[in-house]
Amino acid sequence: MKKSPEQAIRYADLPIPEIGQITPIAKGVYWVRMPLPFALDHINLWMLEDSLEGVKGWTVIDAGVGTEATRAAWRQVIQNHFQGLPIVRVLCTHYHPDHIGLAAWLGNGADTGRWTAPLWINYAEYQTARVFLGAGASIKLDEGAGAVNMASHFHRHGINDPDTIEKLRARSGHFPSLVPEVPDSFVRIFPNQSIRIGEHHWHVIAGYGHSPEHCALYCEDLNLLISGDMVLPKISTNMSVWPQEPDADPLKLYLDSLHAFELLPDDVLVLPSHGKPFGADPGSRAGGIKERITQLREHHRDRLDETREACREAKHACEVMPVLFKRQLDLHQLTFAMGETIAHLNHLWHAGVLKRVTQPDGSLKFLTV
Ligand SMILES: [Zn+2]
Repeated sequence: MKKSPEQAIRYADLPIPEIGQITPIAKGVYWVRMPLPFALDHINLWMLEDSLEGVKGWTVIDAGVGTEATRAAWRQVIQNHFQGLPIVRVLCTHYHPDHIGLAAWLGNGADTGRWTAPLWINYAEYQTARVFLGAGASIKLDEGAGAVNMASHFHRHGINDPDTIEKLRARSGHFPSLVPEVPDSFVRIFPNQSIRIGEHHWHVIAGYGHSPEHCALYCEDLNLLISGDMVLPKISTNMSVWPQEPDADPLKLYLDSLHAFELLPDDVLVLPSHGKPFGADPGSRAGGIKERITQLREHHRDRLDETREACREAKHACEVMPVLFKRQLDLHQLTFAMGETIAHLNHLWHAGVLKRVTQPDGSLKFLTV
């Protein structure tokens, strides 16, 4: 019998760290897990031994979401596993709340008063976090004519239910509720940059489609990839079309970005933000990053086939969504499911497979050419 995608992945034999605990991954590299208040209930973060400008301490990769539960978990980790050393740098793979939420708090000493540490992040990711935190120019919270926000975006794609629209409108403060602050300044990191952390160099692999310019980190010496959200073992990376860039084709950006990850060794140990570390057996070369990327490509090819089939009759994105997402969705999941459905529709539209037809009421339907 053919193995399911999940069974085909070879997970590392490592204990999942309890909240507040750590699991050693390699010399000087530790796995930390933090809670999330969503259906996806955890995020993996990484602690690396470092020495920056002569100060011995920790580089923390991704910060966790800005909730009291995550602060409490960090306090435990700091007390029990930091060996009295400070954080010398907070490095974020991208701007999403579960990654950047507590970056300012951690950088400002995490209530210990013992250190201040800079945020290292890509320019686009930093600026996007600032915009969302301030609910700045691109996100208008009022519903005036032409207002650009999640509710009007999804309304244009066929969501009419007043209750859902109202809930989407009320959700405008979602980002600030999870990211209480973003540091006032940052150290800019670049695609293909080599960053020295402790005794090792980590190569920045940029990825697109999930966020503006996601930065994963690969260490050849340790054969480790901190993949962030770009390559996940169990769930597929979300790539959504959001209101501020309604014609975007994030699926193309994402699939193109996977090439850089396919060049890594089969047996690289992948440290993902969600799920468990995995990597191919060096002997069999099965179950590692190449296998997972093949699965992801097949997954999206199947979803695109379903999307095209569904559009033999003209449909709004909200009518295609249940074809791609068959389970019951809460509001948080609905925003991602809608965003991702539009991503598949936009991809086929840009490829000339579907046409996009504006309806008399201004909404958009997609139809097979
Ligand atoms: Zn993300």
